Amino acid sequence: MAFVLRRRAANVPEATEEKTTAPMSPRGTSTSHLSPAECLSHNGSLPDCDKQRRVGELDDRRDGAEEEEQERASGSDEGFMGMTPLLQAHHAMERMEEFVHKVWEGRWRVIPHDVLPDWLKDNDFLVHGHRPPMPSFRACFKSIFRIHTETGNIWTHLLGCLFFLCLGLMYMFRPNMSFVAPVQEKVVIGVFFLGAILCLSFSWLFHTVYCHSESVSKVFSKLDYSGIAFLIMGSFVPWLYYSFYCSPQPCFIYLFVVCVLGLAAILVSQCDFFSTPQYRGVRAGVFVGLGLSGVVPTLHFVISEGLIKAATMGQVGWLFLMATLYITGACLYAARIPERFFPGKCDIWFHSHQLFHILVVAGAFVHFHGVSNLQEFRYTIGRCTEDGNL
Ligand SMILES: [Zn+2]
Repeated sequence: MAFVLRRRAANVPEATEEKTTAPMSPRGTSTSHLSPAECLSHNGSLPDCDKQRRVGELDDRRDGAEEEEQERASGSDEGFMGMTPLLQAHHAMERMEEFVHKVWEGRWRVIPHDVLPDWLKDNDFLVHGHRPPMPSFRACFKSIFRIHTETGNIWTHLLGCLFFLCLGLMYMFRPNMSFVAPVQEKVVIGVFFLGAILCLSFSWLFHTVYCHSESVSKVFSKLDYSGIAFLIMGSFVPWLYYSFYCSPQPCFIYLFVVCVLGLAAILVSQCDFFSTPQYRGVRAGVFVGLGLSGVVPTLHFVISEGLIKAATMGQVGWLFLMATLYITGACLYAARIPERFFPGKCDIWFHSHQLFHILVVAGAFVHFHGVSNLQEFRYTIGRCTEDGNL
């Protein structure tokens, strides 16, 4: 009831709002039939809930009268301890509704780490600036434009995603005459762009809706981890294609191996324990291990073509820089550097997860640069020579 009255006085100052809630009017509408949380998640808008409340208004008036009678009988208007379980539940529901309504209106405030529910507690070196649980997707998406611990995480990958989307479209519309086999090469490089865009999209979406509810955060964290595996698998495709252009057999074997390892990483990401804070190091290890499986084809290339060719035509230098960026990012992420040394000082900007995000975007761009150099090299020398090399 308090919730409905407050909603009608939407922009009324707090003091006026309190007055409206004092007496329990018999015409008041209890929201016990459908909570705003349910409205938010099922209907997506509060006005829709109004209809349902009006339908239940008569029943509510009767329920309200009964509850008032019970309250008088128990003589416990003031004390919460003397309330019947029904009244206690009703008051708890009202408080929850009021909170959800504040969230709906964007009137929430950041909270410290120690009052977060367990499912939102991830990094205790980020002392303040956390979003409260907000069981509304609308509120979660509106929080993109507010300052809190996830702001930097969201924007680093949202902007990165838009950047790779534009870069990918530009690449796909490049004239066919700049390729040896335009369709094949565009598909192969397109797989890399698809992996990067999926990874970055899942990531910014996860960080946006992470505070919605435990179940939503679990689903999106699994998508987030799967996205990293997609990026790594997608990165292998054009690199193996150009590096083993004239020897398709090792190219297919390595592709098969990385797909199996990538699928295994996706499978393990689906386990609930994988996203818990205790497994932070294991998560970093799984994805660094997946990326480092590229050491075998790199060594194969260096041994068969020689170090000079590998460094020049093979773009191994860019590959090395990409690996360095990813591994540095994963180490910062696992060790929670720098916030470990400055607890409470990196709550909003420059904490490990943000730096990890920036290094992922940088690593993916470096990989793209190396692959586009490989593509140009292939265009320059044309199709395979008789001896089968390069
Ligand atoms: Zn992230």
